[in-house]
Amino acid sequence: MSRDKITIPTQNPEDEVIEKTLRPQNLANYQGQEKIKKHLQIIIQATKKRQEALDHILLSGPAGLGKTTLSYIIARELNTNLKITSGPAIEKGGDLASLLTNLQEGDVLFIDEAHRLNRNIEEILYPAMEDFKLDLTIGKGPSARTIQIEIPQFTLIAATTRVGMLSSPLRSRFGVHFRLEFYQEKEIKKIIQRSAKILRIEISDQAANLLARASRSTPRVANRLLKRARDFAQVKNSSIITPEIVNDLFSILEIDQYGLESLDYQIIKAIIEKFNGGPAGLQSIAAIIGEEAETIEDVYEPYLLQLGLIARTSRGRVVTKTGYQYLGLSYPEDRQKKLM
Ligand code: ADP
Repeated sequence: MSRDKITIPTQNPEDEVIEKTLRPQNLANYQGQEKIKKHLQIIIQATKKRQEALDHILLSGPAGLGKTTLSYIIARELNTNLKITSGPAIEKGGDLASLLTNLQEGDVLFIDEAHRLNRNIEEILYPAMEDFKLDLTIGKGPSARTIQIEIPQFTLIAATTRVGMLSSPLRSRFGVHFRLEFYQEKEIKKIIQRSAKILRIEISDQAANLLARASRSTPRVANRLLKRARDFAQVKNSSIITPEIVNDLFSILEIDQYGLESLDYQIIKAIIEKFNGGPAGLQSIAAIIGEEAETIEDVYEPYLLQLGLIARTSRGRVVTKTGYQYLGLSYPEDRQKKLM
């Protein structure tokens, strides 16, 4: 799955265990995303009062920003079970039917990578989401018939990194759509400090600042960097993560102070060198640097856009003035006019 290709250290089983340990269990420990948390608290309270299932929720935003974590928290706040699956895992109607019929009243079903649900499955989901009914086709050919069964009232939480790829009939069936945003540096710093406590490693204030800046505004990256820094501190017999340790780590991982790695640089350079700063099509960039277009779009590009190093136009990607300056290059003065 490309979302697991989140940059910097690669995912290994130990990382997964740690990721679970560090996952906040309640809204109080869930940093940032203040508007979403406020809204959620209101709808959760109202739902509990009415003793109904919570409205279906759509969560969108880049990988590692906390969509899965939020779903766990929602189910916990509602005192219900959470069943987890993903778009590509639901291949046949029968897969979805067995998931839905095994739910209990008020349960939360979490579908990750919802943009990868196939259209037939979506068709089955519509009546399930709207009326808590499932239309099942039994048999094949002329003797096939459809039966309708009732399913428990449940809440669907769908997560996607590509909201534009969701079909509009599916999108319109969610009561709420939360767009998760990149985190501020101070929020990431708090996440790092909390995680350090759980991992029982001390970290200096300055080291936490450095890690926060390099975390690509993304909690998952922050936790992975912290874990690497902890390993590094242990190897160096240091009981505390210091700025020196963090800087050494960055040079070994080959990332800069904003967490940019070689591929980020390659993307920006490809647009400058081969397309004179752009616009450049995603496929062309992908071909030049030898990376999948989907990975560039899902993993690298959102953060480059967030930093304002590149921009998206209707004709393709362009490198901004900030992007040129970031690479230490002067911005061709006639570019601004050409882009207008
Ligand atoms: P997504 O589902 O969006 O890819 P996850 O929910 O799996 O992201 O989050 C990745 C990790 O980052 C989690 O294990 C959790 O430890 C951490 N995390 C995510 N969001 C937050 C947050 N708001 N506060 C603290 N930690 C967070």
